[in-house]
Amino acid sequence: MSDKQLIIAIDGFSSCGKSTVAKELARKLGYIYVDTGAMYRAVTLYCMRNSIIDADGNVDEPRLKREIGNIGVSFIYDQQTSKNTTLLNGEVVEDEIRRIEVSNKVSYVSRIDFVRAQMVKLQQQMGSKGGIVMDGRDIGTVVFPNADLKIFMTASPEVRAQRRFDELTAKGEKVTFDEILENVNQRDYIDQHREVSPLKQAADAHVVDNSHMTRDEQFAVILQLVEEAKAKK
Ligand code: C5P
Repeated sequence: MSDKQLIIAIDGFSSCGKSTVAKELARKLGYIYVDTGAMYRAVTLYCMRNSIIDADGNVDEPRLKREIGNIGVSFIYDQQTSKNTTLLNGEVVEDEIRRIEVSNKVSYVSRIDFVRAQMVKLQQQMGSKGGIVMDGRDIGTVVFPNADLKIFMTASPEVRAQRRFDELTAKGEKVTFDEILENVNQRDYIDQHREVSPLKQAADAHVVDNSHMTRDEQFAVILQLVEEAKAKK
């Protein structure tokens, strides 16, 4: 592998396999992987634990604004496996932030401008030296508009809901397919229609629709794009 340290942005809808691809790519290239969704999930968990968000998703914004500076989100990163463990103020919350209760609330927190500003600042610091694969919703549009490679991943809502359903039931969570599909559709809607940094494809992103691709096929397509980006750098 050449030693050009690229910034690779992978954006797209929820549950379309971004993090699996991003992790695999980071491992292959010897890069750092950052899961930005985990950061918004950790802030959401903080809000839930401290009653800053209610059952309907209403956020006490003045309080969150006062406390945002005290919400420490960090990762322990294992380069060998590309596994990220998310910490909230030093506590491991990796499993807790993946639960459906957090998924149901996260879009109400991630749409708040000062929450985004804080997370984007952290993400830009993490990626400043390159050699990074970052996945999220606004990486190619806002966090790294000059990324060397931008990929926009997508798949149909039903395919994505089925994947998320399989993942959660494998972990023993009691969920129904319909509940997951509703969450996927609801998050798509909020993520695409929020005022600040809505999910949208960057003009120069490469679209990868993996509804009908195996993981290997998809990875081959993406590796090809990486080689092209390296040749251009
Ligand atoms: O990627 P994941 O599904 O874990 O992201 C959880 C939520 O975090 C998304 O539904 C979205 O609301 C928010 N998010 C975001 N910007 C990012 C990454 C995630 O708004 N860069």
